[in-house]
Amino acid sequence: MSDAWNQRLRLIRFRRKRERSTFREELRILPKSLIWMCVGLYVLALIIGIAVNLHNMQTGDDIFPDNSLRGQPFLSCLGLAGAVTGVAIFLTIFILTLGYVYRDAKRRDMHAGLWTLLVLILSPAYLFIGLIIYLLVREPLPYACPQCAATVSARFNFCPNCKCNLHPACPQCQREVSDADKFCPYCAAELAHPKAAPEA
Ligand SMILES: [Zn+2]
Ligand SMILES: [Zn+2]
Repeated sequence: MSDAWNQRLRLIRFRRKRERSTFREELRILPKSLIWMCVGLYVLALIIGIAVNLHNMQTGDDIFPDNSLRGQPFLSCLGLAGAVTGVAIFLTIFILTLGYVYRDAKRRDMHAGLWTLLVLILSPAYLFIGLIIYLLVREPLPYACPQCAATVSARFNFCPNCKCNLHPACPQCQREVSDADKFCPYCAAELAHPKAAPEA
């Protein structure tokens, strides 16, 4: 990994530390329609599965899980419902993960479609490795300018409201440092923060 990439990751991690969102708040960005679609598909699969199973029991076709339960429609349908629920939970987590990545990438001003596609492509073979990559490198959310508290995008170099330098560089080695560093983490030069504001 290149030096610039490491510097960038360090700053991304630093800014993201200010995002103190809980798991519950994160879930709130999921589109409601997606959740209801999953619930609807689950109920539909249950109804169709059990109806077909009961129908086959009368006609003598194959039933769930095999013919040993032919005389016990309740046990057979209960087993089927369990299997459908298991598959549904897995699929729902997968679909909601994609929905989350899409919404989250969008509010972070990243390529939402590309990231969703990456997670989708990597998931069948490598489970949630795409999601892990996404969570590690995602951009920070828009944050408050340290000087005037206006909301600024993580991509801005200067605050459009007060011209505050949002990416301060070390005067000695010119590498980017965070506004909370007292000393440059690369060359140990002392950093002056004449306009430092308390942490948001
Ligand atoms: Zn500002
Ligand atoms: Zn330095």
